[in-house]
Amino acid sequence: MELDESYRELGLEPGCSDAQVKAAWRRLAARWHPDRNASPQALRKIQRINRALDEIRVARRMDAGDAPPPAADDAAPDPASTLHHRVTVTLEQALAGCAIDLQGERVEACAPCKGSGQQAQPTTCGTCGGSGRQSQPLWFGWAATVVPCTACDGLGATREPCQACDGDGRSPAQHYRCRVQIPPGVRDGETVVAQARVEGDRRRRRLEVLVELLRHEFFTLDADGTVRLVLPVDGFAWTAQRWIDVPTPDGPQQMRLRRDALVYRIKGQGFPVRHGGPRADCIVSVTPLFPEGLSPAQEALIDALVAHNTGDAATTAGRRMADWDARLDAWQARRAAAH
Ligand SMILES: [Zn+2]
Ligand SMILES: [Zn+2]
Repeated sequence: MELDESYRELGLEPGCSDAQVKAAWRRLAARWHPDRNASPQALRKIQRINRALDEIRVARRMDAGDAPPPAADDAAPDPASTLHHRVTVTLEQALAGCAIDLQGERVEACAPCKGSGQQAQPTTCGTCGGSGRQSQPLWFGWAATVVPCTACDGLGATREPCQACDGDGRSPAQHYRCRVQIPPGVRDGETVVAQARVEGDRRRRRLEVLVELLRHEFFTLDADGTVRLVLPVDGFAWTAQRWIDVPTPDGPQQMRLRRDALVYRIKGQGFPVRHGGPRADCIVSVTPLFPEGLSPAQEALIDALVAHNTGDAATTAGRRMADWDARLDAWQARRAAAH
């Protein structure tokens, strides 16, 4: 790879600073790391990126110890070494926050070869002796033509398989464990960052935990933190404005039905509007259920209710119905008298 081509590979100009070289390498390595990038070009691309870095490093006499990973330090974790995990929590756990113990396994790029599977230092090509060219005799024997060496693609140097990983490019699986603190009010799809301890590695790794909320049997959660729930209520209990038990994310709560209302708002029983902010409300929708037909016993009870209601001087309804009945009777009497 030509030096100019190496800069182009990292998206840089030859006049850039060493820091820019490292930053560009880090960014690209994080993007094309085969552990994180499933595309078939990823391995080839990371090899090209690593080779470009090597070329530039040699040309600039950049101190290898000062170069980006293999050995990233604690202060600036290598983005490619970030661990990813996924956890599922219930709506109640998400509301209250919780601690979850995780464990997992990480297979990462081999450190000595940075995942390329090849030795860092190229060795002189044995086929062309480092010239990158080969003489190829023509079939009629009296002339020869010079072509690029096929063993090294004309580079003059080849790379042996990495001894640490036997050319695989991956290190053996490492186990990690971590206790993750899920903050109260976390939403579906949010990422929580933690530090994981990886087996056989004294450094702590950045662990990004994607939180998923389990579907709840009663509640749905709006983006603004509103919790919604729909529940059936006895139609007669609703008519009689009785107290009922309503589930809320905090537990059961008593709520009084009103026969003029199907939707109720329980203040402050939803999720926080924003992290640490005031809590949104819980919206309860009720569906009053009445029997499709009345049983004889229910008919008798309804008759008793009607008889008790009309003419009950203690209630406005009773007085108004008695007054109406009296006017209706008087009107019918006048009609009868007129004929
Ligand atoms: Zn060669
Ligand atoms: Zn290796």
